[in-house]
Amino acid sequence: MAETANPRPEDEVVEIARDLIRIDTTNTGDNATAKGERAAAEYVAEKLAEVGLEPKIYESAPGRASVACRFPGADPARGALLLHGHLDVVPAEAGEWTVHPFSGEIKDGYLFGRGAVDMKDFDAMLLALVRDWKRTGKVPPRDLVLLFTADEEAGSDYGARFMVEQHPEVFEGVTEAVGEVGGFSMTLPNDLRVYVVQTAEKGLDWLRLRATGRPGHGSMLHDDNAVTRLTRAVANIGQHRFPVEMTPTVRQFLESVSELTGVEFDPENPDEAVAKLGPIARLVGATLRNTANPTRLDAGYKTNVIPSTAEAVIDCRSLPGRNDELEATLKELAGAGIDFEYEIRQPGYETSFDGALVDAMAEAIRLADPGARTVPYMLSGGTDAKAFATLGIRCFGFAPLKLPADLDFTALFHGIDERVPLSGLRFGVDAMDRFVSKS
Ligand SMILES: [Zn+2]
Repeated sequence: MAETANPRPEDEVVEIARDLIRIDTTNTGDNATAKGERAAAEYVAEKLAEVGLEPKIYESAPGRASVACRFPGADPARGALLLHGHLDVVPAEAGEWTVHPFSGEIKDGYLFGRGAVDMKDFDAMLLALVRDWKRTGKVPPRDLVLLFTADEEAGSDYGARFMVEQHPEVFEGVTEAVGEVGGFSMTLPNDLRVYVVQTAEKGLDWLRLRATGRPGHGSMLHDDNAVTRLTRAVANIGQHRFPVEMTPTVRQFLESVSELTGVEFDPENPDEAVAKLGPIARLVGATLRNTANPTRLDAGYKTNVIPSTAEAVIDCRSLPGRNDELEATLKELAGAGIDFEYEIRQPGYETSFDGALVDAMAEAIRLADPGARTVPYMLSGGTDAKAFATLGIRCFGFAPLKLPADLDFTALFHGIDERVPLSGLRFGVDAMDRFVSKS
C-alpha cells in the first residue's frame, strides 16, 4: 500500500491563501451588499475539521460569519493564546488592476489579489500551521484559540465585536492575542532588516458636529447662521496641529531604529527623527500625536434658505488614553453652539514590548532571518485587536513576512495590485511555527 506523504505547510500556505482570495469577501459596510464571508467561513471550518479540530461558525447577521476553534495545548493552566485573522476584504475595482483582484493569479513570484496582505496571507499561515501540527501530532505548549472574523474592514461590529459581546466563552482563559498589522520586515537605510511588531493602536473617534441656528431667508440680514458657525468650527479643527506626545511604544521604536541606524534621535523633536526614516515615516508619522481631519459636510437644501442646522464629520484618531483630552480640545476649538455626537468611539490600546511572548517573537525572527531584529510600533489605523483589548487581552500584531527591500509594502494595504511574495508566505509559516512552538 502506497503511503501518501503529508502536504508540506510551505506548499499549503500558498494554496490556501489562493483559495481564500478566490472567495470574494468584499465588505461594503452594508449587510445588503457585503458578501462571501459565509463561504469563506465554511472553507476555513472545513480545513480545520479535516484534521480533527472542532470549529464552530458564528453568524451575527445572515451571511456575516466568523469561525472559532480551540486547539488544546500541553498545559491548559497557562492560559490560552488567541491567533486571529479577518476574512473580509475592502472592495477592489477590477479595471484598475493588472490581474483580476479575485483570480488569485501567481506571477513573478507573487500571489496577487485583494486580501493578499490584508489579511488572507495570515489566515492561510494559521491554517497551514495548525493543519501540519495536527497531522504530525505536534501539540502547542498551551491552548490556542483560532478565530477568523467577519467585518474587520467596517468596524468589526459583525465580527470581532459581536464575538466579544455575544460569545465571550470563546475567549475563556485567553491572555494574549496575535494578529495583524505587524511582523513584516522593513529594510533600514543601512540595509538592516527590522520586523515591526504592533504593540499599540490609536483610537478611532468619528465625531459628528452639529450647529443649530435660526432659519431664515437668504436675502435678509442674519446673525445666527448655522452654516457660518459650523464652518468656523470645522476650519479651526482642521487647522489645529496637536502637540507631540510620545508614548512608550513610539519612543522605543525611535530609540531602537536610531540605535540600529546611527541616525540621531532628538526626543525633543521626534518629527525630525521620523522624517529621516524614509518610507517608514509614513508608518509612524501619525503615531506621534492625536489627529482630527474634517471629512464630511452637510448643510442646506436651497440657495436662498438659511438652514436651521449644519453638520460635519471629523475623523479623529486618538493616542491610547488620550481620547478624552482630544474631545476637550475639539470642544474648545469648536466654540459655543456646536453639539458633539460620536459615530464611532473605540479607544486605542497599548501594551508593553516585553515578556515571554515578545521574547518568542524575537527568537523566531532571529532564527528565521539571522541578523534581523524585532522592534515595537504603534499602528495609526484600526484592527480587531481593539475589540479583544476590551477583554483585558494583551494584543500584538505579528504576521511574519520577509519582504524585498524595495517593496512599498504599506501601500499594498487596500491598494491596487495587492500582492504577497510566495517566499514571504513560506517564511511566515516557518516563523509562526518557531514562534507558536515557544509561545
Ligand atoms: Zn486587515
